[in-house]
Amino acid sequence: MSIHEYFPAEGRGCALCCYGFERLHQAGEAPLTHCPACGAALRRALGTPAIIEGGGHRLRESHLARHGYTQYRRLERGRYEKTAGDGPDTIGGD
Ligand SMILES: [Zn+2]
Repeated sequence: MSIHEYFPAEGRGCALCCYGFERLHQAGEAPLTHCPACGAALRRALGTPAIIEGGGHRLRESHLARHGYTQYRRLERGRYEKTAGDGPDTIGGD
């Protein structure tokens, strides 16, 4: 299982997705591509894995960027700063 964070890929989204939301995925569950509430296209940010299986595998920021992911860290409620990837430097907060 792992926790994925989603943000609207464009536009402001709805009450669920406008500031991003987290969703716990079961193993093998496909990632969301659209908001379940409003249908907006979603951008996925990799969150911290809920369970690190085996303990030997770590996702490196360079690894994330090379695979097209954009990773953010939470600055404060509703604001995130990019730590890796090609997405906007910051999201939220406006
Ligand atoms: Zn939405």
